[in-house]
Amino acid sequence: MDGSTVLLWNWSAQPSSPTALAELEDASSVLADVRFSEASDRWVWSLAANRRFSAASIKALAAKESALEGLQPFGKCSWVPEKCNIFVWRSLLDRIPTRQALARRNIRIDSVFCVLCGDSVESVDHLFSGCEMSLRVWNRLCEWANIPHIFAFSFGDLVEHYKFCPGNKEYKEVVRGLIIVACWCIWNARNAKFFSSKETSWEKIFGEVRSLGFFWLKNRSKHRNIVWVEWCKSPLYMV
Ligand SMILES: [Zn+2]
Repeated sequence: MDGSTVLLWNWSAQPSSPTALAELEDASSVLADVRFSEASDRWVWSLAANRRFSAASIKALAAKESALEGLQPFGKCSWVPEKCNIFVWRSLLDRIPTRQALARRNIRIDSVFCVLCGDSVESVDHLFSGCEMSLRVWNRLCEWANIPHIFAFSFGDLVEHYKFCPGNKEYKEVVRGLIIVACWCIWNARNAKFFSSKETSWEKIFGEVRSLGFFWLKNRSKHRNIVWVEWCKSPLYMV
């Protein structure tokens, strides 16, 4: 034996498309350098110099990646559920399955256009800051909460908007949470339309933001005395 590897493929269907053939060529070139030995198998963590996995090594790697991408740290909002905070954090990283993201990962989809409006490519920035449906939600939310209108060019601008709102620190935190809740509701409406063909409207999404916002703020913060009738007029009455 000269130590070289001979590969015998056993196909259920012969690869024929250009992509499959290119992948086969890639796989063959990777496998060409593989040498089998009698030693038992072991895992190697190739991203650390000592080739051993540790939580510290992955933490250092994540910190390095975030610094490279210029990401701002996202501080969570304590009065909205964790799932909403995580959703916004993932959106900031462009890690939610929008149609643009799916197409980028070569997942076969019928269209890359926005599920809600059908006018533009469905990216995170479009869905939350450019889509007609979302813009109407933001306009209504701003009127209701008595805050400056949102002109966001990106998802990042949107989640930072609370900083430019009048009011004390407490009210800013309420506004911040409402923006997070609204992103969550827009995404849910988009999914309900996409997966269950449920039609939606900006009024419906706004109604959801107002009631979920009330429920979560009342049950998850010190604002336990808020009153629904007053809240519906404007959350500004709290301050
Ligand atoms: Zn749209």
